[in-house]
Amino acid sequence: RYAIHRKRAEILVREARDAALEANRQLERRMRQIDCMYGVSRILESPELPLQVALEQVVAKAPTAWLRPETIGVRLSCLPGLLPSGIVQTPGFVETACRLEAQVFAGSRPAGRIEICWTESPPAEGDEAFSTSERELVRELARRVGLALERACVQKELVQLATTDFLTEACNRRHFMQVAAAEIQRAGRYGRPMSLLMVDLDHFKRINDERGHAAGDEALKAFVVMARDLLRDQDIIGRMGGEEFAIILPETALSPALVVAERLRIRLAGLQIPASGGEPLTLSASFGVAECRVGAGEGLEACLGRADAALYRAKAMGRNRVEAAE
Ligand code: GH3
Ligand code: MG
Ligand code: MG
Repeated sequence: RYAIHRKRAEILVREARDAALEANRQLERRMRQIDCMYGVSRILESPELPLQVALEQVVAKAPTAWLRPETIGVRLSCLPGLLPSGIVQTPGFVETACRLEAQVFAGSRPAGRIEICWTESPPAEGDEAFSTSERELVRELARRVGLALERACVQKELVQLATTDFLTEACNRRHFMQVAAAEIQRAGRYGRPMSLLMVDLDHFKRINDERGHAAGDEALKAFVVMARDLLRDQDIIGRMGGEEFAIILPETALSPALVVAERLRIRLAGLQIPASGGEPLTLSASFGVAECRVGAGEGLEACLGRADAALYRAKAMGRNRVEAAE
């Protein structure tokens, strides 16, 4: 009887030990998952990290939620335009049959997906390849990545709203002044030429009066589209107000700047702008061109002033013409 008792006690101890080991194992799994989510949150909440870098770090962190991180591959694929690279994944990621997937939404918009794959053998038979808490973790990961993507989109929109003119999508006045000041500084430091164009559409009030405000708006948009098409990528166009625009031509001295202005003038004068309720619109503009005296330390305001005076002369001399500043 004594031996039987001892045997039973031994069995109980062994069972208790196994249960304790299993509980420990579960606990370690949970700890890893919590630690992973904590790390992911910290990465996604760091304001200084660019989105691409943050998501690379998140993807690198994700496998640590598993007991054998080296056997877990993670891939995040984003829809075009959301992430510079489109895809971020752990090194040597391979898609295997033993996988888990969660959709990523930025707000209510589908934005991509996260895939988790066992790249080597999944846990021993009998064990589920992914536990309930691991499935939950992947969904939570997708949710947080979605929030980060949404935040980045909103930020991009805010910057866009703060720096561009709503109607024409040219730089707004404030942003143009900032960019122009930075360009002048750069030109001064490196001793490079730079020119400024002031442009004012001719008799624009007439277009509004005769064809309506909506047609006037179309004409303003058409001017910017035309100018962007003709100018270089580095040139910057800003809407200074109403039907008045300014253009920075980096690396451009006065005489080539005059050539650019003349090309704009001719192209604009030949433009037929489709407008509802009648004939296509035609319009012209007057131009004042000034090369910044960067060597003499001329500032933005002074240079704009000279370009403006030249524009005024172009108007006085009959419009639809280009005048160089003195
Ligand atoms: P000038 O050749 O001397 O420049 O004549 P102008 O008629 O172009 O000049 P003026 O400054 O008298 O009129 C500018 C007009 O531009 C008046 C205003 O109604 C119009 N305008 C300003 N902003 C907008 C806009 O956003 N949309 C439209 N449709 N018109 C605008
Ligand atoms: Mg005008
Ligand atoms: Mg004007």
